Amino acid sequence: MSSLLGSDDEEPQGKIVVPEDVQDAVRTLIRWAGDNPEREGLRDTPRRVARAWKEYCQGYGEDPAVHLSRVFREVGGYDEIVLLKDIPFQSHCEHHMAPIIGRAAIAYLPTDRVVGISKLARVLHAYARRLQVQERLTAEVAQCIWDHLQPQGVAVVIEASHACMTARGVRTPGVAMITSKVMGTFRSDPKSRQEVLDLMGY
Ligand SMILES: [Zn+2]
Repeated sequence: MSSLLGSDDEEPQGKIVVPEDVQDAVRTLIRWAGDNPEREGLRDTPRRVARAWKEYCQGYGEDPAVHLSRVFREVGGYDEIVLLKDIPFQSHCEHHMAPIIGRAAIAYLPTDRVVGISKLARVLHAYARRLQVQERLTAEVAQCIWDHLQPQGVAVVIEASHACMTARGVRTPGVAMITSKVMGTFRSDPKSRQEVLDLMGY
């Protein structure tokens, strides 16, 4: 692939071209942080950072509900909890653009349809790969499952550490934040809620 930008800016095949103004923004940030963006070790950093951010935020180009469009209706009368737990994920907080790293547990109580279990993780990732706050991420995942699988209940619990808190500010490594969103039966019936939280290990 040849480039009009000259050999220095030639993009290796398959990699997205990073516009000059985006690279400038990263250079400005490096300068602001106290380093020299022109020194050798930092020369390609603006492009790498820009591409990394496209990847961190690829959820913007994705409709999470797509993952719930293929359902299976032959559930053989199964009407108990379906749970996927310990799903690792990474997101970025919208206040500092710092990493949020954690695990999620997603459960639902089906009515007449189920999805392939990996799809629950895909819904999570589609929302996580955006700038987020943990509370909204939790609610969005639950709502998406509620709307598209129309189950009797949904429960989502997310446990994550926020680099904006562990690496800066009050600097408290090891601190995790837990958020939960329960809907339907899991909300209205305390026994049902206890059952799902027990299965999740909370
Ligand atoms: Zn933050």
